[in-house]
Amino acid sequence: MRIAMVSEHADPLGAVGGVDAGGQNVHVAALAAHLASRGHEVTVFTRRDDAAVATRLRAPDGYLVEHVPAGPPSEVPKDELWPFMADFARYLAARWAAERPDVVHAHFWMSGAAATSAAGPLDIPVVQTFHALGTVKRRYQGAHDTSPLARTSVERELCRTVDHVIATCSDEVAELRRAGLPRAKVSVVPCGVDVARFTPAPHPGDGKQRLVVVGRLVERKGVADVVDAMAELPGVELLVVGGPARDSLALDPEVQRLRRRAAAAGSLQRIEFFGRVCHDSLPAVFALADVVVAVPWYEPFGIVPLEAMACGRPVVGSAVGGLLDTILPGVTGELIPARRSDLLAITLRDLLADGRRRAAYGAAGVHRAHQHYRWEQVAAETEDVYTRVVESVSAPAAEALR
Ligand code: UDP
Repeated sequence: MRIAMVSEHADPLGAVGGVDAGGQNVHVAALAAHLASRGHEVTVFTRRDDAAVATRLRAPDGYLVEHVPAGPPSEVPKDELWPFMADFARYLAARWAAERPDVVHAHFWMSGAAATSAAGPLDIPVVQTFHALGTVKRRYQGAHDTSPLARTSVERELCRTVDHVIATCSDEVAELRRAGLPRAKVSVVPCGVDVARFTPAPHPGDGKQRLVVVGRLVERKGVADVVDAMAELPGVELLVVGGPARDSLALDPEVQRLRRRAAAAGSLQRIEFFGRVCHDSLPAVFALADVVVAVPWYEPFGIVPLEAMACGRPVVGSAVGGLLDTILPGVTGELIPARRSDLLAITLRDLLADGRRRAAYGAAGVHRAHQHYRWEQVAAETEDVYTRVVESVSAPAAEALR
């Protein structure tokens, strides 16, 4: 198949870990790579955010990346990109009129808007993955939500106009159903993990007990709750990976906020903020962990818990979104309610005191990651969705020719 992916803000070749670059970049890169290795011709259309980068280039993994001129060729926060989507859509329409893809897969709501507007007149089927939903963000972030006002209504509209939606977890299906999406129009295909790269490695055996948190440093990731729990975990160390590059950490307002909080609780000297780490180096980070902690307030999917599981580490997570599917409590880790640093501290204290349970959870995590979440499998399931959509769109045309 000739597959066009649209990922307006998340460049699969971009650096990951900053405020707007995380799971979607990793997801699009891995999916494109695995679909390309299955013999498909994949092009990812992403916004040009760097004047120096080539318009079209082939990624080492065999897919093409096309940088779309829409807005200034510099970094722009994703919540300020909406006004440039009309230009983005015009570019896609011209490209697809010249070189028609068999299927378009849009990632995130703005990509969906641009993709449907370009693909509609050309009768190209569109598959949508939201990655995150405006209604959920508004529910949790209220007045702090900086999404454009149009977001929720565009998402509802997409539920009507796209040919199929891929949800990444069961919780998202429930949200989409509430937004009016018919059950027949949604399939669950989770995010994946590269199990060849994320493999179990021995703990350094340095006599330290260490918690590891990995993720973008935004409030809703719940890092402050982990920092608060540290006050109840004497002797335990915490490594926080993510956020800006190491040399600009001190200037980051979220790091400053978390450091102040830790200092007030007397635990700052046991907490290290490391800054962002390239994706290839993360297995070495997980190897340092006795327990990986992921306690977001909400989470559309959460690739980090999966990566930690593949690395054989027990995960203590919050019982939200995709973590409800990935983490099996009492088997691969524990689930606790979000924003409960008191329960987090108790859960972590128990688990840190029980090496056998940690080892059993770690082994079960590896098994689960391999059984359900290998990118090869995720790409094959995604390909199935494309095939069904392409067939259902071409069936009426074939019928008319008879
Ligand atoms: N990540 C990374 N380096 C960092 C921080 C995060 O490579 O310093 C990666 C992480 O390994 C994961 C992704 O970014 O693959 C984050 O995805 P997740 O779904 O956990 O969260 P999101 O960023 O989508 O909210």
